[in-house]
Amino acid sequence: MEQSFKYIFGPVLSGRLGRSLGLDLLGARICSMNCVYCESGPLKRLTMTRAPYVAAGDILAELEVWEAARAQKGEPLPDVVTLGGLGEPTLNSELPQIIAGVRRVLPGVPLAVLTNATLLPDPQVREELLAVDIVLPSLDSLLMSEFAEVNRPHPSLSPLDIAEGIREFRAMFAGQVWLEVLLVAGCNDSEENLALLQLYCRALLPHRVDVVTLSRPGTEPGARAVDADTLSHWRARFAEILTDEPDVSGRAVQALAQSAEKRQEQAGATVSAPQDPAQVRAALLASLSRRPQTAGQLAQALLVSEQSVHMALEGLLAQGDLVARQQDGATYFQVRASGH
Ligand code: SF4
Repeated sequence: MEQSFKYIFGPVLSGRLGRSLGLDLLGARICSMNCVYCESGPLKRLTMTRAPYVAAGDILAELEVWEAARAQKGEPLPDVVTLGGLGEPTLNSELPQIIAGVRRVLPGVPLAVLTNATLLPDPQVREELLAVDIVLPSLDSLLMSEFAEVNRPHPSLSPLDIAEGIREFRAMFAGQVWLEVLLVAGCNDSEENLALLQLYCRALLPHRVDVVTLSRPGTEPGARAVDADTLSHWRARFAEILTDEPDVSGRAVQALAQSAEKRQEQAGATVSAPQDPAQVRAALLASLSRRPQTAGQLAQALLVSEQSVHMALEGLLAQGDLVARQQDGATYFQVRASGH
């Protein structure tokens, strides 16, 4: 039976997390910011109000079906379950129930949260996030002008409050904090921002800092990636700060990879044979509705052959379900926008 899920996507291949099973806690693009580089399409609601945008019961019911199908097919467990989606996941007020439910359905699988950190100044949200393993907060600029230009935040937000929220969370959290800074050329790549973020990271001591730039098409055509020299310059400056704990990020990734391998060995899991073409098409559509990807990325994430992926992509392109875009010499596929 072909399964289609509303709130579960992937597993997708994440550079940092491996094969990541994503849970969408919003169901629509509901966020506290409207970043120029966002890949999730036009914003539906800019808000700081927490609400059960998707009920915990609905997400967990899907996860139980997904897990039963995975176990029946003998497919490997994902390396990690990542709470995220089309907006800011901590806006979902049923976050504690969702975290507890994921632990129950997929015990032993590490749980990560991708967050823009805008709710971390709230002690209640900090408390709720203590129950996960990895928190990946993003903080693109400590300068109000750059923050406003890149992140286009809810008017109540200030980057310094957010930075303080991350710092307070780091001080109480036993898991890993992986900070991400996304650079947009001419917006937040200033030396002033770099100096401030460096100073901040000296106090924060995150377990790793990932400086990235746009690698896939974003929602704003004017948002451009920084060049390779700028990226190396920034990365080198953060590497200096983390020299006190030089292997922390490597160890964290290794531990994650090893635990995934161990779980798969224990489950006796093997990579499944190429699936039914209709299943491959459904999986591609679900994954590409969340983010643009290349054929190679899709094949690795979904554990199907590149040939099957290419065949499915051709069919979906011919039907007009997908569009292909060139970026940095690679072809990215994404679901055609519905226009509303
Ligand atoms: S915080 Fe994340 S989801 Fe929200 S607009 Fe920015 S990139 Fe998109």
